[in-house]
Amino acid sequence: MGLISGTDKPALPSPSGCIFCDYPPPPGAAVDAEWHRARYLICSTPHALLMLNRFPYINGHLLVAPRAHVAQLDELAAEDFAGLHELLRDAIGALRAAYQPHAINVGMNLGEAAGAGIAGHLHYHVVPRWVGDNNFMPVLFDTRVINEALEQTYQRVGAAYGALRGEGEERS
Ligand SMILES: [Zn+2]
Repeated sequence: MGLISGTDKPALPSPSGCIFCDYPPPPGAAVDAEWHRARYLICSTPHALLMLNRFPYINGHLLVAPRAHVAQLDELAAEDFAGLHELLRDAIGALRAAYQPHAINVGMNLGEAAGAGIAGHLHYHVVPRWVGDNNFMPVLFDTRVINEALEQTYQRVGAAYGALRGEGEERS
């Protein structure tokens, strides 16, 4: 309930204004689990990153973005495109293992007019869904269905991702 009660940790600063560029560790940097936890960053590969949405519509709302700061899919180099979708596949696998949702929405808002919050850096939303969850509420009322703190979501999805990758606690 951290998001509702205001006890969730504040977002770390993003000097460039783009969390997808600022939050993954710089190339070659040795970072520990705390670096990841502080940013709700589950992993970053050479081509893509997986993190929690700090403002989730529902528990388990994930974001998958390429490392490259581009706004459109056709601006991605082939290896970045492939790496993005490899991680998208693993994000879905981790989410299914962690939450056993009835279904999953995977989507991308390309451009501000389409509703993108960070329009300059494309990203997938991966949202677990259950029969009877409040499909209409975020659209009509900006009301979100949250009953789990982000920290718990982070542990849960991170553990599932680690198990999927056979990495134990290692997530970078
Ligand atoms: Zn960026």
